[in-house]
Amino acid sequence: MTFRAPVSEYEFLLNHVVGYDAIPATDRFAEATPDVVSAILNEAGKMCGEVMAPLQRNGDLTPAFLDNGVLRTSPGFGDGFKAIAEGGWIGMSAPEEHGGMGLPLTVATAVNEMMAGACLSLQLAPLMSQGQIEALEHHASDAIKELYLPKLISGEWSGTMNLTEPQAGSDVGALSSKAEPNGDGTYAVSGQKIFISWGDNDFCGNICHLVLARLPDGMPGTKGISLFLVPKFLPDADGNPGAANDLKVVSLEHKMGLHGSPTCVMQYDGATGWLIGEEHGGMAAMFTMMNNARLGVGGQGVGAGEGAYQHALAYALERKQGKTASGTIADHADVRRMLMEMKADLFASRAILLACAQAIDMQTATGAKDWAARAAFLTPIAKAFGTDTGIRLAETGVQVHGGMGFIEESGAAQYYRDVRVTAIYEGTNGIQSMDLVARKMMDGGEMGFALIDEIEEQAERARTTHPNMAESVWQACESLREATEWLVAQQDMQDRFAGSVPYLRAFARVLGSHYHLAAAMADQGGPREKLARYYITRMLPEHSSLLAHAQAGAAGVFALTLDELAG
Ligand SMILES: Cc1cc2nc3c(=O)[nH]c(=O)nc-3n(C[C@H](O)[C@H](O)[C@H](O)COP(=O)(O)OP(=O)(O)OC[C@H]3O[C@@H](n4cnc5c(N)ncnc54)[C@H](O)[C@@H]3O)c2cc1C
Repeated sequence: MTFRAPVSEYEFLLNHVVGYDAIPATDRFAEATPDVVSAILNEAGKMCGEVMAPLQRNGDLTPAFLDNGVLRTSPGFGDGFKAIAEGGWIGMSAPEEHGGMGLPLTVATAVNEMMAGACLSLQLAPLMSQGQIEALEHHASDAIKELYLPKLISGEWSGTMNLTEPQAGSDVGALSSKAEPNGDGTYAVSGQKIFISWGDNDFCGNICHLVLARLPDGMPGTKGISLFLVPKFLPDADGNPGAANDLKVVSLEHKMGLHGSPTCVMQYDGATGWLIGEEHGGMAAMFTMMNNARLGVGGQGVGAGEGAYQHALAYALERKQGKTASGTIADHADVRRMLMEMKADLFASRAILLACAQAIDMQTATGAKDWAARAAFLTPIAKAFGTDTGIRLAETGVQVHGGMGFIEESGAAQYYRDVRVTAIYEGTNGIQSMDLVARKMMDGGEMGFALIDEIEEQAERARTTHPNMAESVWQACESLREATEWLVAQQDMQDRFAGSVPYLRAFARVLGSHYHLAAAMADQGGPREKLARYYITRMLPEHSSLLAHAQAGAAGVFALTLDELAG
């Protein structure tokens, strides 16, 4: 499968839409100038096209399997991971003192997204390591950092994240894995974890598991959970993998897609682990990893959407059916509609993703509370809208292919099967939306209103050059403001939650129009202005029905009894 990394799209977004220039203006990221970033993106793009994209079908056709308890990965994945590691792409935003590149997360986000577009199932492996690197960087002792970070960053070892148990999915606080102090500073970790992505592989010297478990005096619920680092092999005195730890992969899940990524049931039987962060403070430490992963998973959605779009466009430009100017289906109005929607939504979701990453970088560089609040507000939107967009694009990609979309050999269906899980893992998109309307609005909606003000200010400026588009964006903002006021006024959280998914989507629609408008202003008379007009005229109006739904309250969703639902 061919894949062309959308480098020029990132360059345009960074330089003209999301205000990347603020990042190299800080001391922390002074070296990450636009020229440097372009060179990095081009290099990463080459690796994605040449190394990763050819592996996409391998993962699907020859999934990872257990061979007498030994995990065998899909053909070529070991070499692919090695290429990612050697390029430095695992530790892009990791600290330089431990071997990372120290780049802004915004750049890492763009590269991760490209890698996802090329081969999603393989990309998940470095993404897991990146989350672990960040969690250790912030919460581990110096000794652990010194031993583990260089190896995780270089890709010699890999990282995983173990939260889920059969009875503890979205409700992480229900977990029952235990940890007992061994008396020598280590802990004995026991329990079963399910759905663990890349829980093992045959190309890294060690697999480092971050495991949530409860200490004997840990209270029930999330407040009693601690985090442990549990390696597959216990490091010897020289830091090399030594004796096998008491853990194993019990089985692999048979999945709808993402076959190249082994999803493991893990068993820990008194495995030796090291506490990361404070006792009972596991959720705080894990949140560092989860926030990183949420942005990363949003990028998986956008990346897979890009892959699906390129695939659909290539097919549309070749398939001849009916009489059209070019002779291909690409000139049928309805096929054009699908391609335009795909391209316009890719732009919107990618802009939101980069804006979120930029806020995180600015928070890191300045420590300012406003940037932290902005990053926190944008994270659930970037995750849920990025992944919903990826799914919608992959589904539309199947439709563009007609019957061939349903036939596996075309490869269109794989994008859909692979990306589908991104709306489920790392906190389902329903949970993300609830987070947006509850925790992220504990400030009375202040951050949401600040973003709305910012969108309106730009719309005001755009009135001279793009009066119609500016007016539509401005009006949409006013509707969003009213809906936000309504939401924060609701005391019964069920009334907020019942409309949280349409609200998040409406917010993303409006944000998308903001970034499209910025693109139109920067590219007057050019293709980006035309795409912005398409989005604002035909796709933004969806916000109106979404906001009506968001403000309808909970009574309606509970209108039928459970018996009536079954009747
Ligand atoms: C391929 C794959 C890879 C994964 N990788 C990992 C991994 O590496 N590490 C890891 O720890 N986990 C991993 N997971 C697990 C994943 O994070 C969970 O599946 C996810 O968090 C949802 O939990 P659940 O499956 O138990 O669904 P449930 O929690 O049972 O949810 C079922 C439905 O109920 C909804 N729901 C649940 N609670 C609420 C609530 N309070 N309010 C409103 N709605 C609610 C959900 O949104 C969902 O629609 C993976 C899962 C898959 C499928």
